[in-house]
Amino acid sequence: AKETERGIFMFFTEDMNVRVKERLMLENKLRRAIEAEEFTLYYQPKVIAETGEITGAEALIRWVDPELGIIGPDKFIPVAEETGLIVPIGEWVFRTACAQMKKWKDMGLSITNVAVNLSGRQFSKPDLAADLMAIMEEEQADPKMLEIEITESFIASSQSSMVESLAVLSKKGVKLSVDDFGTGYSSLSYLHRFPLDIMKIDRSFIMNIKEGEDDTSEKLAKAVIAIGKSMNLKIVGEGVENDTQLEFLRENGCDYIQGYYFSKPVPADEFEKLLQEGATL
Ligand code: C2E
Ligand code: CA
Ligand code: CA
Ligand code: CA
Repeated sequence: AKETERGIFMFFTEDMNVRVKERLMLENKLRRAIEAEEFTLYYQPKVIAETGEITGAEALIRWVDPELGIIGPDKFIPVAEETGLIVPIGEWVFRTACAQMKKWKDMGLSITNVAVNLSGRQFSKPDLAADLMAIMEEEQADPKMLEIEITESFIASSQSSMVESLAVLSKKGVKLSVDDFGTGYSSLSYLHRFPLDIMKIDRSFIMNIKEGEDDTSEKLAKAVIAIGKSMNLKIVGEGVENDTQLEFLRENGCDYIQGYYFSKPVPADEFEKLLQEGATL
């Protein structure tokens, strides 16, 4: 076996070797981070397009490494998905968001929903829906205030177990949102298998909306909104950074807005301040 191992090893270029090592280091670090609970959730406000009133938030994970500081999800979620570590991480996210929601409700803050991102990989656990329902009960979170975001690409590659799990949660009152819509190349017939409530237009469509002529990006964004409307979904515009984009989305019937224009994702206590100020942004 030694011989073969060495043989295979020879095929790795120096570069690949370094990448594999980095990967393994990250995986080990991530395992330790789960045990040490080195994660925190940031919350980005979602506002009503018409009024600018905060209606809810999307919970976004951050890894607080004792040495490296805050590490964004793009750096570790892909590894967590490949290694299956997304299952315990995703459970921590869900529980933490539920507990936070209950806290805000008890504080009398007017927040109608908190959205949590679920990775399609978490559905490899067949009893995921039961697990999530148990967590909601333990944390006394109201299912009607919870929203689950799943990317369009995961929906497109859906197994029937995912459809079933989501149907169970939907019956409980949990809202389902298709995230990054327009980037997943999913056939529209797939979408109809899911009890969807909300569609989030991907930032890539909104990014290129600029002052002036009705260009391709605007036409694409309009087409995407039209698909959502035809399915009776609420529409969320993501990654809104300026007035032009906001006005465009308002004019085209977008229901909710999320983006740096209003606020970046912030720690829970800062989000509380935004709510207490009743900040109409
Ligand atoms: P996403 O779900 O599409 O989340 C939106 C991302 O866009 C967030 O990045 C947010 O900070 C960023 N964003 C919001 N508004 C703007 C804007 O106006 N301009 C720009 N340039 N960016 C904006 P973040 O927090 O780094 O998260 C990246 C991705 O990591 C998320 O994309 C999501 O796919 C994943 N992720 C985050 N938290 C979780 C989690 O708890 N579980 C899972 N499975 N994935 C997560
Ligand atoms: Ca999301
Ligand atoms: Ca998104
Ligand atoms: Ca994204």
